[in-house]
Amino acid sequence: SLSVAGVSVRFGNKNALLDVDLEVADHEVVAVLGPSGSGKSTLLRVVAGLQEPSSGTVRLDDVNVTRVPPHRRGVGLMFQDHVLFPHRDVAGNIRFGNSRADIGSLLGLVGLPDAGRRRVDTLSGGEQQRVALARALAPSPKLLMLDEPLGQLDRELRERLVVELRRLFVRLGTTVLAVTHDQREAFALADRVVVMTEGRIAQIGTPREIWEQPASEFVARFLGFTN
Ligand code: ATP
Ligand code: MG
Repeated sequence: SLSVAGVSVRFGNKNALLDVDLEVADHEVVAVLGPSGSGKSTLLRVVAGLQEPSSGTVRLDDVNVTRVPPHRRGVGLMFQDHVLFPHRDVAGNIRFGNSRADIGSLLGLVGLPDAGRRRVDTLSGGEQQRVALARALAPSPKLLMLDEPLGQLDRELRERLVVELRRLFVRLGTTVLAVTHDQREAFALADRVVVMTEGRIAQIGTPREIWEQPASEFVARFLGFTN
């Protein structure tokens, strides 16, 4: 389980995160939704250990990891700017994250069973996203963090992949914290959705709860319920 308590991140006199509390249970898929600049990536970076909070604590399985370096947290990451090596083959890219990875079964999981020998720069954008996901899954992380995992893809492919992702996470029992700015993606992917604005959490709830009872004018407007 993940527990974020009272986390703030300050850059100069600006708060990227302000007193954020978040509990994620084992096997839960949580999507973080919010406008650009609302603190979504910063929250992921704090949980991953890539950004030290100005205050507050991060616990994984009840262990305080606030000052534990990223590679010792047992979390998997797939970030917007974590690009693959285009000239290496798929297997080489996945192995880069974990030398003992079972390439065959990872590629099977993401629906690319025969791609191990393909050079990454011969794959489509959607296929590359799957390879990046396989690489993030290679160390069998207890907590998988995704920042806009389907960011570069067109809507049709996103909608198909998001359903596959959800099935995959449920099957593996992976705990997932996934950032997106796409409301439909968040609702399709997650058991619960976190809506952020200006470094704070505006609402946490199941897609249905948020849909039926937006907690504020901001949430309603952000979801496009009013104008
Ligand atoms: P997007 O949807 O555009 O990716 P986001 O919700 O992920 O946005 P963050 O990247 O978390 O937003 O940034 C939150 C705020 O903190 C922004 O105003 C950003 O400019 C600021 N910020 C983030 N990282 C830094 C940094 N290293 N130095 C200064 N300001 C930062
Ligand atoms: Mg971001």
